[in-house]
Amino acid sequence: MGMLTRRVLYRSARPFIQPVSRHDRSNSTRFSTSAPRPLMAMAGFSETQVMVRDAVSQICARFPNTYWQEHDQNEQDPTDFHAALAKDGWLGIALPEALGGSGLGISEATMMMQTIAESGAGMAGAQSIHANVYATQPLAKFGAREQLDGIIPQVVSGKWRVCFGVTEPNAGLDTLRLSTTAHKQPDGSYRVSGQKIWITCAQVASKMMLLARTKPLDKVRKPSEGLSLFCIDLDRSQPGLDMRRIKKMGGRAVDANEVFFDNYAIPGDTLVGEEGKGFRIILHGMNAERCLLAGEALGLGYAALAKAAEYARERVVFQRPIGKNQAIAHPLADAYMRLEAAKLATYHAARLYDDDTATADAKTMDATNDNPQMARSHQDDADARTRAVDLGVACNSAKYMAAEAAFTACERAVLAHGGMGYALEYDVERYFRECLVPRIAPVSREMILNYISEKVLNLPRSY
Ligand SMILES: Cc1cc2nc3c(=O)[nH]c(=O)nc-3n(C[C@H](O)[C@H](O)[C@H](O)COP(=O)(O)OP(=O)(O)OC[C@H]3O[C@@H](n4cnc5c(N)ncnc54)[C@H](O)[C@@H]3O)c2cc1C
Repeated sequence: MGMLTRRVLYRSARPFIQPVSRHDRSNSTRFSTSAPRPLMAMAGFSETQVMVRDAVSQICARFPNTYWQEHDQNEQDPTDFHAALAKDGWLGIALPEALGGSGLGISEATMMMQTIAESGAGMAGAQSIHANVYATQPLAKFGAREQLDGIIPQVVSGKWRVCFGVTEPNAGLDTLRLSTTAHKQPDGSYRVSGQKIWITCAQVASKMMLLARTKPLDKVRKPSEGLSLFCIDLDRSQPGLDMRRIKKMGGRAVDANEVFFDNYAIPGDTLVGEEGKGFRIILHGMNAERCLLAGEALGLGYAALAKAAEYARERVVFQRPIGKNQAIAHPLADAYMRLEAAKLATYHAARLYDDDTATADAKTMDATNDNPQMARSHQDDADARTRAVDLGVACNSAKYMAAEAAFTACERAVLAHGGMGYALEYDVERYFRECLVPRIAPVSREMILNYISEKVLNLPRSY
């Protein structure tokens, strides 16, 4: 654990959910037979994860639901929230200590993202930092020394914000068919032309992790070849760059955009890793992103459920709290168990991801130390492929289950509120609008089902 994080973590002493005094409890739960307890079961988490939850929740407490209501309504970027997290070093939670990060894993970063969403910040709060946490992972692993030293510390400090430019209107989920091109010029620079869509935070970002084709599709052996990853400046003063904000259903505090490139010039040293290997490089971040998004969905689900339970305890109709009706209580109890199951899947996947990264790093170390006993064998390669599928299955399953559990919790929270579920001030309508995002992005439910059908059930590929 890095010094920075250690400092941040030990500063916090307040429990995540304040215990309710006996007096308060008796007032607020007049009709209830049992005292409220924190919703999520905390057993099984590491001490570090608990400390992350505790410390991040303290920062989030400075940004109450009214802050997020206003920013959602006004479509205003939560700049001060991003700055508060950056100030205490949280944007570098999963980046190497040598670059100013904390050197923690995706298990801790997932807990951070869950805590943010659960605080009431929802998907908007999480998305305001999401790309900074995960899109920088491929950069940290494959970037050149000058790129690491020049970019990562600025991202960790919050000076530069990052967005992730992959999705295109004409390719959709078929990423390998994206058509944005980066043409190499005689002086080594590139010219980018094409269109990206749904790019979160492009309006406020200084940098974009851009996936573009550097070799035409008809000139490569496999569609996964010929794509390259760049970390580029979004310099609005230069010709050939334009963006247009998309009006959207939820998470309105963060911008989503169409981004247009027309012969936009980028220097040669913005290329990350080897030219033409961008797809393999970007895959490195995708499993991590599935875990983070699963955490964000869980946070939203628990936040909605907590609101629903509170309302069901307090709202009296027919001279009894509505929570006394099993038609209200049982769907909420069921939603709780779905969230708990998805939580186990999520943190299991995150742990597998961290274990896999540690194993891969150890092997790289042995290879670079020229240890002949550790030379890669065919068996090593086969093991690595099996591990990659196991990891993909775990991370995709976690994202799927967490997104579904969040949707169930958010929908039932709205319904438990009756008419008030539709009112802005009760927050559950905001959570409900936002809970569709984890079902759609970064990969849809259908594509995850396709993946499990093929990789686990050994069924023929359907696309
Ligand atoms: C709020 C938000 C933020 C986003 N942020 C970013 C970002 O920062 N950067 C970025 O690059 N992208 C971003 N995205 C894009 C997101 O990753 C895509 O929307 C998502 O991958 C789905 O792609 P698509 O919209 O093109 O759907 P399409 O590919 O058009 O698919 C439409 C529907 O058809 C289904 N479908 C397609 N093919 C098949 C098949 N073979 N089998 C079964 N079903 C199929 C899909 O599951 C889906 O339901 C964001 C999206 C949203 C909504």
